[in-house]
Amino acid sequence: MLNYQELIGMGENAGFTHVAPLKVSTIQLMPEVRDMCAANTCGAYGKKWSCPPGCGDLETCRAKVQKYTEGILVQTVGTLEDEMDYEAMAETNQKHMETFLKFYEQLRPLYPEMLAIGAGGCKQCKTCTYPDQPCRFPEKLVIPMEAYGMLVSQVCKDNNLPYYYGKCTIAYTGCFLLK
Ligand code: SF4
Repeated sequence: MLNYQELIGMGENAGFTHVAPLKVSTIQLMPEVRDMCAANTCGAYGKKWSCPPGCGDLETCRAKVQKYTEGILVQTVGTLEDEMDYEAMAETNQKHMETFLKFYEQLRPLYPEMLAIGAGGCKQCKTCTYPDQPCRFPEKLVIPMEAYGMLVSQVCKDNNLPYYYGKCTIAYTGCFLLK
C-alpha cells in the first residue's frame, strides 16, 4: 500500500491545494467523455499525442490504467473575482500545470513506472510533434483525464475529494497512478 501520508505532504509542499488517495477501481472510463473531446472546445483534439485520437482508443487507455490499483488525486483551486474572471482561471491553470510538472519530476525517481494523468493536453513541449513525428518525450507524455474517458467530477466524488468549491472558484485536477 502506498504511504499516503507522505505523498499528501509531498504534494502539498509542491504547491497543490489538495491531495487525496485514489482507488483505481473507482475510475470509470466512458466513451461519452471521449466524445466530448471530439467537440474540441479546448483546441487540443487532433493536435497532440496526448489527446484523442493520438493518445489511442479507449481500450488502449483502459489497458494502461488497469495496470495500477492505487494513486493520488492532485488539485489546484483558485479564487475568481466573478464568474467571467478568465485571467484568474488561466493563472490557476498555469499554476496547476507548473506544480504538476514539478511534482512529476519529484515522483519519477520514486515511482519510475508511474502514470501521470493531467488536466488539459500535454504541455511538455512548446510545439507538439503530432502527427508528423513521434512524441519527443514518450516517457514524460502527460495525457489528460478526459482523454482517458474519465469524468473528473465522478472520480473526485468516488474518492471523497470535492470537485466544486463554491461560487467564484475554479479547480484543476489531475492524478498520478503509482506502483
Ligand atoms: S512530450 Fe512533447 S511531443 Fe510528446 S505529446 Fe507532449 S508536447 Fe507532444
